[in-house]
Amino acid sequence: MDNYINFHTHKQSAPDGVITVYNQLLHEETGIPKHFYSAGLHPWYADKLSAAELSRVLDLHGSSSNLIALGETGLDKVCKIPIQIQQDVFELQLNKAVILSKPVIIHCVKAWEEMLEITNHYQVPMILHGYNGSDQLTGNLVKRGFFFSIGPMILNPNSKIGHAIQYIPLSSIFCETDESDQPIQSVYMAASGYMKMKEADFKRTVFENFGRFSRV
Ligand SMILES: [Zn+2]
Repeated sequence: MDNYINFHTHKQSAPDGVITVYNQLLHEETGIPKHFYSAGLHPWYADKLSAAELSRVLDLHGSSSNLIALGETGLDKVCKIPIQIQQDVFELQLNKAVILSKPVIIHCVKAWEEMLEITNHYQVPMILHGYNGSDQLTGNLVKRGFFFSIGPMILNPNSKIGHAIQYIPLSSIFCETDESDQPIQSVYMAASGYMKMKEADFKRTVFENFGRFSRV
């Protein structure tokens, strides 16, 4: 039986049968976890570490075999941090991801144009986390080669992603719970339902996708 992959969670605990990628917020904690994780400076806290400090901490994490990805990092036009600071911190992490050859987990809120402009210059796998875009946006992002991590938003019967998910190639999909207490199984159930797939087949596909970023 394949495990469920929870590609992005802020909770440390991993229920039986679930492999989790814990998201470590580097402004809060910098120690190296003993399980799979991602580490980055979130755009909401982009002013909390200096460039030199962030670079030093990322180098430290870069040597851990448990580090699956850098991030979440990205751009958020709804938060109060000036966009220029967010961009600098985002680019620093993208540069580091290239050097470490790690994927990047991206948080993007109302800043798609700016995000695309920046990411155009970097050749690393990029995963849009908590993704809930329209059909049209999804089509554009698929063409640009992004991966998509689908969260509990899909449990809302009116979510955009419930419709748009059909345009995402199966090889580009992950699922996550993010901050939510929902079991990851409910996200898989909804996503596979919208994809008109058996849940077991969907689960195997996501597990295989994860295998490209880690040694499971
Ligand atoms: Zn998150």
